[in-house]
Amino acid sequence: MKFIYILTEEKTDSFFIQVLTAVLVLMILVIVFYQLFFFVEFVWVKYISPKPFYRHFYFRKLKLSKDQVYILNTQFSFYQKLNLKQKIYFDHRVSRFIKLHKFKGRSGLYVSDQQKVLIAATAIMLTFGYRNYTIKSLERFIIYLDVFKSKINKAYHKGEFNPAYKAVVLSWKDFLEGYNIDNDNFNLGIHEMVHAMHFDFLKPNNDSISAILFERYYKKIKQLLQNNPTYRQNLVSSKYLRNYAFTNNFEFIAVLIESFFETPQELKNQFPEMYSYVKKMLNFNFKGY
Ligand SMILES: [Zn+2]
Repeated sequence: MKFIYILTEEKTDSFFIQVLTAVLVLMILVIVFYQLFFFVEFVWVKYISPKPFYRHFYFRKLKLSKDQVYILNTQFSFYQKLNLKQKIYFDHRVSRFIKLHKFKGRSGLYVSDQQKVLIAATAIMLTFGYRNYTIKSLERFIIYLDVFKSKINKAYHKGEFNPAYKAVVLSWKDFLEGYNIDNDNFNLGIHEMVHAMHFDFLKPNNDSISAILFERYYKKIKQLLQNNPTYRQNLVSSKYLRNYAFTNNFEFIAVLIESFFETPQELKNQFPEMYSYVKKMLNFNFKGY
């Protein structure tokens, strides 16, 4: 009796060890495959073709409420042009973006769902060509009703990106105006969010696929302006970009991307090289662009 018991116990033990070994081997294989996949993608994007291998893969897609979808359908023209599948991805990303970020109102402002949805949608639109849609250097949004006194330089601002607080600060009145007048190449939300992306993507330790794309075409844009003074002069005299663009490289890229979103056809017709670089920089192959 005792002998049989020992045999059974040994059998159970060896079966348990076999299962454990199989699980361990499987886990190691998954990790190796995962690392290899991203290494190959990194090399491919950096040296061969600047596009992520895939953009969307989610175990569980989050949904927006009916009211939130209504806001997008009535107040966000980029969303209206997406197909059904793209809208499902967009909804998921907006929902997750809202969950991952803090939204704080200032001077008595209560942050509404409309504000969260439109701010998140702006960030998601900008990064919709990428797989990674969160910007590590951006954690919170501070919303004022109107212009505010900046903590950085004590002047009155409509918006700013504060890297120390990982915050985009916005005047809501001016944010809305950016969308209400959608063909003047002014869009405060896009402008400030590009600053956050730019700051994050140019960090030396950021080797994400999005950062590689952004950096590659950012360099090309800078080279185009530096090596070709006539091109730069034509850009200045055309008045297509407002004068503020020529303050420094950070402002240039922010204003250029605002213009890309608001008047893509105009940019394409007048400065096709610039248009093509921005399109590739954001991997932006969507209707209207
Ligand atoms: Zn700026």
